[in-house]
Amino acid sequence: MIEEIRKAAELIKGAKYTIAFTGAGVSQESGIPTFRDPGGIWDIVSPEEFGTAQGLISTLLNKPDKLREFLKNSLDTMRKAKPNPGHVALAELERMGLLKAVITQNIDNLHQEAGNQNVYELHGNLYRFRCTQCRDIRKFEKNEALSIFDNIIEGELDISSVMEKAPKCLSCGSVMRPDVVLFGEPVQQLQESFALAAQAEVTLVLGTSGTVYPAALIPRITRERGGWVIEINPYSPGYTELATVSIQGKSGEIMPVIIEEIKK
Ligand code: NAD
Ligand code: ZN
Repeated sequence: MIEEIRKAAELIKGAKYTIAFTGAGVSQESGIPTFRDPGGIWDIVSPEEFGTAQGLISTLLNKPDKLREFLKNSLDTMRKAKPNPGHVALAELERMGLLKAVITQNIDNLHQEAGNQNVYELHGNLYRFRCTQCRDIRKFEKNEALSIFDNIIEGELDISSVMEKAPKCLSCGSVMRPDVVLFGEPVQQLQESFALAAQAEVTLVLGTSGTVYPAALIPRITRERGGWVIEINPYSPGYTELATVSIQGKSGEIMPVIIEEIKK
């Protein structure tokens, strides 16, 4: 494996334009379960009930206690999650001038917490709210957003109390919802991300199964434009046939070793 790690370090060091494309797996070592692995979120609850706007409303109407339990567990997990050595390594790579951007499918804000400045969030951010009418955005500190969610799930959990406790838009006064992309909703910042992928000499693919389209196209775009793909994944790599270097391992264990190699 050290040979692959050396090769990855060499490619990143030699490239003028490297980006990272990350998925749920980069946050696994921070204690946030992935979606599709055994024990992942979709093993525990169904995407139909908890992954779509319609499903969430119907779960709220018909099974409020089940929704409360799901939200409480999810919020506890998010509250405890801190950036792991994989996130920290990506922030260091950016500071070293070797990483132009992180494109993530995660909503957990951990890349920003680790120190990355240039983060594109395809599926939104759990701590940002969006107006349901005019689409205005309000950003909250993580703790502030978590208290808003805590307040919502305490006491009666029904539509009128959710609407009352949800933040209101500063422009039009309407109810705001978390600015995350649910199933069936359009991905955010996709064109910008495709443009980055097309420019990239190296795309580092970390912790994604490559099954959620259109985001999964990102490494393919880099490859089609003649760039290299480096993949790090312990269980189910999605780009083996595409990857110049494929490393079987956890991002929090492999990324710090790649940084050490780059510094040599
Ligand atoms: P996924 O669940 O489909 O795949 C996760 C991938 O990560 C798998 O290939 C797995 O082998 C790999 N993995 C597991 N542990 C790893 C580790 N320690 N290091 C590196 N790789 C590891 O996730 P996905 O491809 O990101 O797509 C699922 C969707 O789930 C995304 O849309 C994302 O929005 C959402 N999601 C986000 C979070 C989060 O914000 N942290 C968590 C779960 C799901
Ligand atoms: Zn508004």
